[in-house]
Amino acid sequence: MITLVRRATALCVLGAALTACGTTAAEVAPRPAPSAPAPSSSASRTPTPTLAPGPGGLTPVFEHGPRTDGTNHGEQDGTRDGKLIALTFDADMTADQGPRAASGERFDNPQLIAALRELKVPATVFMTGRWAEEYPDEARSIGRDRQFEIANHSYSHYAYTDDCYGLPTVAEDDMRADLERAYTAFEKAGVPNPMPYFRFPGGCYDKAALKELSATGVTAVQWDVVSGDAFATDADAVTRQVLDGARPGSVVVMHCTRSAAPVTEEVVRAVVPELRSRGYRFVKVSDLVGAANGRA
Ligand SMILES: [Zn+2]
Repeated sequence: MITLVRRATALCVLGAALTACGTTAAEVAPRPAPSAPAPSSSASRTPTPTLAPGPGGLTPVFEHGPRTDGTNHGEQDGTRDGKLIALTFDADMTADQGPRAASGERFDNPQLIAALRELKVPATVFMTGRWAEEYPDEARSIGRDRQFEIANHSYSHYAYTDDCYGLPTVAEDDMRADLERAYTAFEKAGVPNPMPYFRFPGGCYDKAALKELSATGVTAVQWDVVSGDAFATDADAVTRQVLDGARPGSVVVMHCTRSAAPVTEEVVRAVVPELRSRGYRFVKVSDLVGAANGRA
């Protein structure tokens, strides 16, 4: 079976005149046409940027974008990128947490998404398939909003290596199926164009995992700034950690999971205006990957 990602990637490679490369239009029911793209939305006109495979065809790993501050390119026409930074939110829910959700624990965070909308911060949500199953309306709403992009954080949120923060482990033979099951869950929820980006649960990966996923065509996405929002109760401390770590091109990892990251909305409301005052512009991971390719 051709995977969703592989088909999308193949279409991109062929240079097909897609309006949004990475969609799975051939495999999903027709949906209402999206509203006209904003002039600034390059994603609607060009293929979704991915990194070229690593040595030996291994899944490539993206950690941050160009470290440019946008002031040294001699561009005077206002089109320079400036200092780009990507906030990323892991929508974690583990395959065995259904009973906890059923008993009232909230793994979603609609107030956080509302804050990002209010502040007009583009962002990338790395969603587990299990999360999309639990919160299909929210997954669809995020996925249909051009301000956001949804990427793959596995179906199960089980680890792709041994010894990863105590997470249960996915067997090597099951890794691709676990990744693909998340895309199936997104499709069922009505997410129109999930990105061919994959974040390993816990950020744990090794060469065997990179090899196992290489046929899917995903780019693995890590981060260079750990917000520390998981299980944090001190929003100021998390805010300081983000501001101290932020550099041009940074990928910041945070969470979209109320029960395990209760201060994240408060952190976003503090971090966003401060970083903007320092000259940063918020972009999605796809923008950073595209910028990295453009400067390679
Ligand atoms: Zn996670």
